Formats: sequence, C-alpha cells, structure tokens
Amino acid sequence: MSDKKRALAELEKEIKSDQALPLFGQANLVFGEGNSEADVMFIGEAPGFHEDRLSRPFVGRAGQLLDKLLAAIKWPRPSVYITNIVKRRPPENRDPLPEEISAYRPYLDRQIEIMNPKIIAALGRFAMNYFLPDAKISKDHGRAQYAGDYLILPLYHPAAALRSTKVLKDLEADFKKLPEILKNPPPKPPPQIKNKGEFQKQESLF
Ligand code: URA
Repeated sequence: MSDKKRALAELEKEIKSDQALPLFGQANLVFGEGNSEADVMFIGEAPGFHEDRLSRPFVGRAGQLLDKLLAAIKWPRPSVYITNIVKRRPPENRDPLPEEISAYRPYLDRQIEIMNPKIIAALGRFAMNYFLPDAKISKDHGRAQYAGDYLILPLYHPAAALRSTKVLKDLEADFKKLPEILKNPPPKPPPQIKNKGEFQKQESLF
C-alpha cells in the first residue's frame, strides 16, 4: 500500500469515529474514493441520496454526468480522486450549513494535504468558495486561480448542468481545459505583501 493510500485509510478511520461531527449517526460517511496518487482532486458539496446509500461520492445523476465529462477528456474515473466538503448527507439534500462546513474542514484539509494534488477541481459554488471566498461561480468558472499553494479550477456543479443547457455547455468547455492546465499550470503569483499601504505609511514617518 502506498503511503498516501495508508494515510487516507487512517484519516477515514478517524473521521468515521468522530462522534462530535454534525450529521454523525444521521447519515453514512462518504469519505471519498479514487486514485490516491491522482494529480487532480474533484471536490463537491455533500453527498446526496444515492451517495449516502452506497457510501460513495457522485454516484447519482450528477455523478453519471461527471463520469461522462471525465470520459470526454479521456480520464477514467478511477484515475482521479473524488470527494466532498461535507462528508455526510444533509437531510433532504439541503445546502450544507456553515457550521457543518467548518466541522468537516480539518478532515478535508488533511485529505488535501495527503493527496497534494496539482489541481483541485471545485464542483459548484460551495466547493469554490471553500478555497476562494470572494469568487462568483458565474464569473469565475473555468478560471484557474491559486489559493495559497493549491491551484483551483472552479467548475459549475454537474447537478446545475442537469438543469440548464447553457450551464452544461460551459461545464463541458471548462472541463476540456483540465488536461492543458495540468500540462501547463499557470505560474504561481508571488506572495502578497499584506497591508502594503500600512507599511508605506509607516515608512514615510521616518
Ligand atoms: N453532489 C455533490 O456535491 N456530491 C456528491 O457526492 C453527489 C452530489
């Protein structure tokens, strides 16, 4: 077993037994699945009905679309890694609550740290805003941007693409960018100097 696979298995054991997590005891854990050595990690919002039933991410209608989108760029589903921000199904598929997102955050952060992916494909606005709090999905979908050390590609959620042909077209076009971004990632911007104005103000005092 590879080191990453072992570390992920240990993390899964840990999260499974964390009784303090919201939705514990109400829904099954959907930890994530795929190639632990993958360069690309797909991150969705939270499991739905079918995901909860099978304890696997993206296996319902949105998942079937995700599989088709992956097939179109010749990336077999088992070659990538797929997970969600919140790892248990919220009742009635409601949006995840801010407190659920923060409770599951340490686990997703460790999952990402273990994987150390070259690209994080954020599916939908919740996943996008997890990394890029000010981004807007209608404007930022398909635009790869760094959040710290990680390169994030915001994508429309496949469930949204099932409801709108325009969104589906955009999602298909954005998906096609993935192989090129992986081959030729944009350069990482230099670290920002925080409070530059403050610093300059201070400097001018002397
Ligand atoms: N929607 C998500 O965000 N995640 C899943 O796993 C399934 C549907």
